[in-house]
Amino acid sequence: MTDIRIPDSIKPVDGRFGSGPSKVRPEGVESLSAVSRTFLGTSHRQRTVKDQVARLRRGLAEFFAMPEGYEVVLANGGTSAFWEVATFGLVRDRAQFAEFGEFGAKFAKAVKDAPFLAEPTVHRAPGGQAAFLEAEAGIDVYASVHNETSTGVAVPVRRVEGADQGALLLTDATSGGGSLDVDLRETDVYYLAPQKALGSDGGLWMALMSPAAIERAFEIKASGRYIPQFLDLVTAIEQSRLEQTYNTPALATVFLAAEQLDWMNAQGGLSWAVKRSAESAAVIYGWAEKSSYATPFVTDPVLRSAAVATIDFEGVDAAAIAKVLRANDIVDTEPYRKLGRNQLRVALYPTVEPSDVAALTACVDYVAERL
Ligand SMILES: *Cc1c(COP(=O)(O)O)cnc(C)c1O
Repeated sequence: MTDIRIPDSIKPVDGRFGSGPSKVRPEGVESLSAVSRTFLGTSHRQRTVKDQVARLRRGLAEFFAMPEGYEVVLANGGTSAFWEVATFGLVRDRAQFAEFGEFGAKFAKAVKDAPFLAEPTVHRAPGGQAAFLEAEAGIDVYASVHNETSTGVAVPVRRVEGADQGALLLTDATSGGGSLDVDLRETDVYYLAPQKALGSDGGLWMALMSPAAIERAFEIKASGRYIPQFLDLVTAIEQSRLEQTYNTPALATVFLAAEQLDWMNAQGGLSWAVKRSAESAAVIYGWAEKSSYATPFVTDPVLRSAAVATIDFEGVDAAAIAKVLRANDIVDTEPYRKLGRNQLRVALYPTVEPSDVAALTACVDYVAERL
């Protein structure tokens, strides 16, 4: 089976379609290489590195058209660490979650397990559908996911109408941020990690925080709650203001993310990125709708993500296709394992060329015909 050789003429130029870690632009790696002797292996308390942290924070603010008073906060540990940070530092007592996949579920569990917080409300929807937040008295944090990477469902970022005065909205934008449109005034914390649409490497969390969210962090800290030092949001805010992180960051990750944001801003910023992801989405969903053996997993077209596409297969073994693709250097099209479906999952982040997505569909057809 893995002897199927896909002709070079129909293969994508770049065969990386992973939803995270995702494609890193070779040009970014070359820029990193150019500063390898002056930047890598140097102190994160000195200008050389702090300038890159500053470039990253500026790049994010520009890219997301950050409103007045919002701040870019970052620290180590990726989005998984941020869930713990938010559990300790942003939820006052009661949270409500919209849970429609594995990533949303993980944050909900962190809050549920915290002995100092009340039982959260969780609105759940099965894989491939969306759950939504609803106004509820006593809720001080609402949390949803912009793009659920495990299923390929995306929802708009919108404040909860009728929510208590001062309630915060937290949006997991780890994979949606940079591919999907957003107005940051509609959320208090838009948090992400650099290894998805931002086309860098993993290890950091980054949060664009509203003044109300920053105020909440200081309020909870002042209340005397026990907060592990590494997960202290106030420390992260204060360190970020100084263009540094509490402990040693991955310098390459910082640099590649800053480089990628500069590149995306030069191309036209978020509106350019959103258009490019939408173009890739039109290609892959259009192909699946016409195909005799492939269909978009998300049946409601409104919920179909332009950041990560999930395609179901009938009568053809998707795992076998992914295996042949991998043997031909087209990698990471496997579905999210826990979803357990006969499907492929394809990242449509702005780093990925729409023409490469088109080439991928041709390769899938080529392999399916020969299996
Ligand atoms: C990848 C991902 C995460 C986890 O990010 P880490 O940096 O690996 O912790 C969380 N949420 C979403 C939506 C993701 O796509």
